[in-house]
Amino acid sequence: MNQTSDRADVAIIGGGVIGLAVARALALRGVRDILLIERNSLGGESSRAAAGMLAPQAEANRAHEFFDLTCRSRDMYPAFAAALLAETGIDIELDTTGTLYLGFTDADELELERRYQWQSQAGLPIVKLSSAGVRELEPSINEEVRGALKFPLDTQVENRRLLNALVAANEKLGVRLETGTTVNGLRVERDCLTGIETSRGFIATDSVVIAGGAWSSLLSAGDKALPDLRIKPVRGQMLCFEPHPALARHVIYSPRGYLVPRRDGRMLAGSTTEHAGFDKQVTAAGVHSIMTAAVEISPQVALLPLTDSWAGLRPRAADTLPVLGPCAEIAGVYYATGHYRNGILLAPITGEVIARAIVDKVFPESLGIFSPDRFGLVAVG
Ligand SMILES: Cc1cc2nc3c(=O)[nH]c(=O)nc-3n(C[C@H](O)[C@H](O)[C@H](O)COP(=O)(O)OP(=O)(O)OC[C@H]3O[C@@H](n4cnc5c(N)ncnc54)[C@H](O)[C@@H]3O)c2cc1C
Repeated sequence: MNQTSDRADVAIIGGGVIGLAVARALALRGVRDILLIERNSLGGESSRAAAGMLAPQAEANRAHEFFDLTCRSRDMYPAFAAALLAETGIDIELDTTGTLYLGFTDADELELERRYQWQSQAGLPIVKLSSAGVRELEPSINEEVRGALKFPLDTQVENRRLLNALVAANEKLGVRLETGTTVNGLRVERDCLTGIETSRGFIATDSVVIAGGAWSSLLSAGDKALPDLRIKPVRGQMLCFEPHPALARHVIYSPRGYLVPRRDGRMLAGSTTEHAGFDKQVTAAGVHSIMTAAVEISPQVALLPLTDSWAGLRPRAADTLPVLGPCAEIAGVYYATGHYRNGILLAPITGEVIARAIVDKVFPESLGIFSPDRFGLVAVG
């Protein structure tokens, strides 16, 4: 092994959208020596596999701290996209056409009505559409649709361009991005972090951010117990088509799946929710279930050539909520993980919250529900 001795003011474990967003936010706040360590390639895991939907309202059944967090992050996106464009010249294709949510069955209609009631009473922008109304917006939608909701503020980004932009922004800001290196564990002395053990040797640091996605619970800290997050990988498969001409302009959901039209002409269809360990294969059963949902939304999908498919591992904590903020047990350890279905959506706010926690030593009480301290402790090893 090539033993190197090194030091960083802040080390970040994981080069997905979350690690990259945290690194950039820290650099913008003036932190000098930031080292981000990625085992494989930057943005090569769940963040690359995602659909890029920024759709808190389309997915929410009730008001909750998590809903507030997702809406706040969605609303940061226009400024985030503009800043990344200015910093890097890369357009992350923030598309503001809006999101449609379709109902086909009695149960779907009930769900739509409930969502419409609580969100309109809460003063959120939401529009109820008849079958004819939604087909006027998107003529390719199945004529059996019974009705729909439109969420004008729920949008999408091209997450692969977002990853490219975050990498470029970090490079410009002088963040050290080290790929092909694995972090094996944290070194802790008397309840304080002293550094991290990596495949290339020990790196001394006072602050580490755990942004390891679905692998975040595998890190150990010697004899010292860490919060028992029980992060598990949840596989999501995705299909990609190239319709000519385009089939849709909006992101279109049903309770069983979604279609996401991209600016370059591709159209994504997703997804599955599977507990298959760290296996990222696309399976016949996965393709079948995505196709069934996609064809229900628009029967024309059945005739399109399938041009690509992939799968990614969503990082899901034991209670499905993200894990954000400092660890009370070990000074210098911060968590930014467990973003499950919403890591692209939550990237801007996660960057801000973690950078503030490290630089200003401020972690808002209102975010206590996401703290790693909500879990008990467990020794990994
Ligand atoms: C099919 C699918 C569709 C999705 N659609 C959406 C969507 O529309 N909108 C949305 O907001 N979210 C979506 N998501 C969820 C989103 O992709 C994730 O929440 C997000 O990517 C998590 O980002 P991350 O940086 O935490 O994890 P990742 O992108 O998985 O990155 C973690 C990185 O850490 C590295 N790593 C782990 N352990 C170590 C270690 N010990 N040493 C060094 N490196 C390490 C890994 O190699 C990896 O690159 C989707 C996910 C999937 C799979």
